[in-house]
Amino acid sequence: MNHEPEKTLHILHLFPDLLNLYGDRGNIACMEHRLTWRGYGAVVLPFTCESTRFDLSDVDLVFIGGGSDREQKIVCGRLLEHQDALRNYVEDGGCLVAVCGGYQLLGEYYKLEEEMIPGLGLLDIRTEQGKGRLIGNVVLENERFRQKIVGFENHGGRTDIGSHTPLGKVLYGHGNDETSGQEGVLYKNVVATYLHGPLLPKNPELCDYILQNAMKRKYPDFDGFEPLDDSLENRANEYIVQRFTSK
Ligand code: GLN
Repeated sequence: MNHEPEKTLHILHLFPDLLNLYGDRGNIACMEHRLTWRGYGAVVLPFTCESTRFDLSDVDLVFIGGGSDREQKIVCGRLLEHQDALRNYVEDGGCLVAVCGGYQLLGEYYKLEEEMIPGLGLLDIRTEQGKGRLIGNVVLENERFRQKIVGFENHGGRTDIGSHTPLGKVLYGHGNDETSGQEGVLYKNVVATYLHGPLLPKNPELCDYILQNAMKRKYPDFDGFEPLDDSLENRANEYIVQRFTSK
């Protein structure tokens, strides 16, 4: 007999048809699996170019991936129509995960050589295209997490995060802008980062942090996750950390 899970998260995947570089879709699969392995429900709601109804009232987690400048511009134009709804959602503690192009468009603008793509202004950050692309493996450290965060970056934009808290300190790689030694942003329940990979299968602790924030917001009686057997994921993560940070 099938039992309905007692607790279910609704995950809105923004523009999977346009923003899906370096396996960003794997982040959705990872969140879904880490919920269902524990007996919780996961419902993924794609919002594509064809979609018309944009409603965050029943959404627990929003994911937006990375893309080329061209695709980013189309997406940003579409999302500006829903700027207020997205701002209210974020300010109310809604969970949002944004990767690379998706991260850039949460800011004030993304300035290219010959044009300016206006952003959603959900974060007080600004991105400008620099000379050459910042490409390669990345290792981050944040005291909030036991596990280092690993991933892969490939971006032309340099992001100034002002007084925002970064997702991590760069131990290896370029990060937001090559010079600040910072990567990504953590703001309320927003996790924004340049890291692809996909990000979440490589970083199970970060994935659970995001899912727990969504659970706590939706279910006041939620009292934390049971651990999963992450021995393989942890070994893969540790291997990358060793490879790029040990002298
Ligand atoms: N188009 C953006 C840049 O090059 C983001 C690229 C991406 O999402 N990988 O900076």
